[in-house]
Formats: sequence, structure tokens, C-alpha cells
Amino acid sequence: MTTTPDRAPLIEALEVCDLATILPALAAATGDLSLLDPTLRPSDAMFAETEAGLSLDQAQQVRALAKRGLNQLLDHGPIGDLSREDLATIMCWLLPDRGVVEQYFDLFVHELGLADLRTPTWSVPAVAPGRTLSAIVIGAGMSGIVTAHRLLQAGLTVTVIEKDAEIGGTWFENTYPGCRVDVANHLYSYSFGTRENWTSYHSPQRDLLAYFRRVADECGVVPHVRLATMVTGCTWDEATQQWRVDLEGDRGHEIAVSDVVVSCVGQLNHPKIPDLPGIETFGGPQFHTARWNHEVDLSGARVGIVGTGSSALQVIPELAGTVAHLTVFERSPSWLAPALTYRQPVPEGLRLLFDTIPNAMGWLRLWLVWKNCEGLLALARVDDTFDGGGRSVSLMNEGFREILTAVLEAYLPGRPDLLRAMTPDYPPLARRIVPDDGSIPAALLRDDVDLIHHGVTEVTPSGVVTDDGTHHDLDVIIWATGFHAQDFLLPMPVVGRGGLTLDAAWNGEPAAHLGICVPGFPNLFFTYGPNTNIVINGSIIYFTELEVDWITKALHHLVATNVSSLEARPEALERWVEYVDATNAKMAWGASSVMSWYKSASGRVTQNWGESLLAYYDITKTFDPSDYVVTPRTPA
Ligand code: NAP
Repeated sequence: MTTTPDRAPLIEALEVCDLATILPALAAATGDLSLLDPTLRPSDAMFAETEAGLSLDQAQQVRALAKRGLNQLLDHGPIGDLSREDLATIMCWLLPDRGVVEQYFDLFVHELGLADLRTPTWSVPAVAPGRTLSAIVIGAGMSGIVTAHRLLQAGLTVTVIEKDAEIGGTWFENTYPGCRVDVANHLYSYSFGTRENWTSYHSPQRDLLAYFRRVADECGVVPHVRLATMVTGCTWDEATQQWRVDLEGDRGHEIAVSDVVVSCVGQLNHPKIPDLPGIETFGGPQFHTARWNHEVDLSGARVGIVGTGSSALQVIPELAGTVAHLTVFERSPSWLAPALTYRQPVPEGLRLLFDTIPNAMGWLRLWLVWKNCEGLLALARVDDTFDGGGRSVSLMNEGFREILTAVLEAYLPGRPDLLRAMTPDYPPLARRIVPDDGSIPAALLRDDVDLIHHGVTEVTPSGVVTDDGTHHDLDVIIWATGFHAQDFLLPMPVVGRGGLTLDAAWNGEPAAHLGICVPGFPNLFFTYGPNTNIVINGSIIYFTELEVDWITKALHHLVATNVSSLEARPEALERWVEYVDATNAKMAWGASSVMSWYKSASGRVTQNWGESLLAYYDITKTFDPSDYVVTPRTPA
């Protein structure tokens, strides 16, 4: 316990406890499994959030039992480690059935934070005394921090190269008004390190930045980061079996050499502004959401925002009413999903309980892994026998469409025009769904906000022209037009074995074995690489942690078998591509013909993972040497 328990405020705090996870948390902390009344199990149904799908009477019963458990905890203190059987019993109460618990047990133990199963159990000096292994990690954002942390734990010499002036990656670069994480924060955080007792359910950018910096600091990553330095190219040197990495920074041009390179630049790193005629002629300020120009005073300005993806829809409610006039240019709408806690602070009482009950946040995280991740995947899965006419991909998906449409209807009474414009004609989950607490429709209903249901085709000195030929006068243009997602590592040339460039190897269709390794590019690893983005089920942090875990296993193989490099076999990648293509084809984002940043120009899904979290966990659990070509080390 981190606070001196003062009983009265804690008992009072039970009024705002998390009804789904308070009893499992207390059962685990006290060992009193009789707290787990089988009639009070929470519902994992969609949107059964605040009251966990319980009746008012049941909610009161949960609180009464929780009071008993809390008093036990305060009287006797926590019991320490639980047996595997007791732990499984608690999980079985929370989750749908024993089968799920058996299948997911190790994953759940890790997510609960009971053990950091991904700490490397080896280190370079221990496995190969006298050998050193160096790694350059490109990017000091969420992925770069965990990569550097694990590689340092494995005894590598690590240098993180960060182009920005500060650590934080996407949470440093995206400072637009309204920027916050659209995944529940108790899930969107590392599984290791001191848990953050978040003040918001979906933290704003500044809190996330502070969190990632804290972890980088606590894990000892900060001294290994070189800021304000750009990697401008990477070339594999066959003779030395090392990467030559070109750097541009305050020391001018340098070449660094490294045994291993790990790309941690992510998929959404390079802002995309459409190359429209006349764009350079615009007379006022214009900028991308990921490069927000805080010098521009928007009050009193006629502002145009182009795009209605996740970024635009976070900005719009913030700008509405603060500028003279806001015009939103929507080429195609995004589905909105109700998220009532989206802008809510976590109640102080709940934070107090989190501080007091050991690992209560771990139990909430476990619940979110199930309910908001694996549990939602079925909504996106295609039923081949169902004909949704391109609007939905299964009965469940159609039901989801109906719920989302009904919510939108309720927000837009008497505005069939807006309802029409804001209702997508593609299935829910074919693109990223945007959480909303009603603020987006409220903003668009304002008299000083217009939604133009047309794409922008031209820019003039005084505004933009839309595809119906209308000119719109503007003082400022904000491009919320997304990122060059397919161009991993843009703009740096990456030259692998035999002079093969990554651009040529991919030819517009990025693919990597396990999302991590590309044939012809030895000892180059990706985190958040091709086909590792998730649409509905979970947090990218989960994937990155698994990728890094797998990379450390691959490096262990490299060191333990005395080889200098390893690279994926082309046939392993072919099998992988077949697998990811087949799984994505069975999901709304693959089956629907709607275009999105998930797809290459040919329409192939290059960005997304089409299976469960567990599937990726199982796949990355082990390193299979038969899928890799190795180059033995030549004696020095
Ligand atoms: P995006 O989803 O790629 O959206 C780009 C938008 O620009 C689309 O609405 C697109 O229309 C529109 N557009 C492009 N050219 C246009 C034109 N000429 N005229 C009118 N509209 C045009 O980009 P994003 O919103 O930055 O989001 C990208 C991803 O980042 C999200 O899917 C999400 O994964 C992530 N993200 C996360 C958060 C968070 O967690 N807080 C916040 C923001 C973003 P079309 O749809 O018709 O192409």
C-alpha cells in the first residue's frame, strides 16, 4: 500500500469503484475468494461500462461485499502471492469461462503485472563472454523506449537516435488541441514499470508525454538517447556484418556502425498533405495537425479543417466556438462510437482505491484486455453467409451499425442532412472508429460550424475549392489528412544485402515476417511494422512489447549460436503474407472495398493484424531458427 489507510474516505470511495473489477482485486489482495459472488459477475457486453451491466441492486451488493473485503485488507494487510489455482479461480469469475482462462493464463499473468515475463533471462556477456553486441534504435517514442529498455536488460550497447528535440515520439509531435489517447489508458500503458494512476480515462497528450518520459527515465533509457539527430540512411556492410547508419544532427553528418538496427518510427510518423493544385499559393497560414502551429492565433479567423479521421474529430470540438467560423471538409465520414468516459477525469475516490488495493489497476487492465480487445473482435469478423450489401459484414456487425446509427440520430434531432453526411456507407470497423461523448455532433450542430460533404480538390490564395466546384473562403487551413503510413522509415534509404533497397524490396507493398523481419535485411528489426496495427482490439503497446520480446529471443539465438547476422527466409515471409492476407480478408477492414490508410494503393491491407491478441502472443512466444538464414561469425 502506498498511502496510510484512512478508512472513511476509502469506504466512501466504493461509491465510485470499478464495479467489474473491485471484487477480483480484493479477492486477490486478501485471499478471500468468498467475495466472488457468482450472481454479481460483470457483463462483457459492449457499452456495459459504468455499471458493468449490473442492476442497481446488484451494484449495491458488490459495494457491500467490497466494503467487507476492504476492511479485511485494512485490518490484516495483503496476503502476498496467490496460488495458480486461486488466481485462475478469480480470473474465471471475471471472464466468460475456464477455457478462456486456460488459453490466456500466461498472457493474463503478464498483463496483470504479477510477473514481468518479458525481462530477458539472458545477457550478451553471460551467454558469450567477451562478445559485445551493439544496437541502434531509431526513434525515442513509445516503441523506442521499450526496445531500448529490453536491449539494455539483455546487455547490448544501445544508442537511440531521435530526430525530435525531446523523447516522446507521437506524443511529443501531436500537440493539436484535443489530442488524447483513444484507447482506455489503463490498457494503453506498458505492462512493466510503476503503474500510472491516471487522472483521465483517456489522457490528454501532455499526460501521456509525461508518462513516457517517466518510464524512459526509470528504465535508464534516457542517457542512451541522442536527440535532435536524424537517421538519413542505413547500409548493410557484408564484410563487417554491421549496419552503417548515416546521422545528421548538431555534429553535422556522421556515420555510426551497429550490429543491429531496430526501427521504432511507427506507422504514423510522416504527415501527409495532399499534393493539390495551388497549395503553395494560399495566402494564410496552413499546417498539418501533427505539426500544429501554436503561433497562429485562430480566434477571429475563418478556419478550414480538411479531413474527418481520428485527428480531425479530436480537433473539431476544441476549435468550434473559439474561431470566427469553422468549415469541416469531409470526403467520407468516420463511424463514431459512444464513449461516455472519453473526456472524464478518473474520480478521485477511484484513484484512492487504486492506490490502496494492491494491483487493482492490474485487474482493471486484465478486464480491458478481455472486454475491449479480444471480446470486440467478433464485431469485425466477416460472415461469408451474410449479405450486408457492402454496409456490414455480419449480423453482429449490422447490429453494431444500427446501434451507432441510432446514437448519432439521437445526437442530431431534426438534422437529417447532417445525419446523412455523417453516416458512413461502409461497415463499422472497416476503418478506425472514433470514440465520442457527443462533443463531435454538438460541434457540428453549431451555427458557426459548417460540414461540407465534399473533398478538397484545389487550393487558391483565399481558400479551397471542393469537388463540386464551390470555392470556400478561408484564413487558415488545417490539414488533418493523415500520414504516409506505408512508407515505413521514410525518407531514409535502407540498403540491405547485395545493394537491395527496402523501397525496391517492397515496391509499395510493405511486408515483414511477423511484422518484424524483411528478407535481404539482416539484423534489421521493425516494431509496429507492417501488419501489426490493430483496428479494434487493443493497444499498440501490447504489440510492440511482444515484438521486442521476440527480437530479444532472436538476438539470444544470434549470440548463443555464435552467428553474426540473421534474416528471414523469403519463403517464411511468403507464408506469413499468405496468412495475414487470409486473416485480414475475413475482417471488416479487409473485406470492405473502402480505402483507408490500412491499405496500399493496390488495396492490400499492409498495416493491420487480422487475428486475436492471443494469436500474436503465441506466434511471437518463440524464435523459430528454421525461418532464418544465419551467417556464422568469422573469428576476429
Ligand atoms: P486518417 O485517418 O488517414 O484521416 C485522413 C482524413 O483526411 C480522411 O478523413 C480523409 O478522407 C481526409 N482527406 C484526405 N485528403 C482529403 C481531401 N483532399 N479532401 C478532403 N478530405 C481529405 O488520418 P488521422 O485522422 O490523422 O488518423 C490516422 C490514424 O492515427 C488513426 O486511424 C488512428 O489510428 C491514429 N490516431 C490516433 C489518435 C489517438 O489515439 N488519439 C488520434 C489521431 C489519430 P477519406 O477518408 O475520404 O480518405
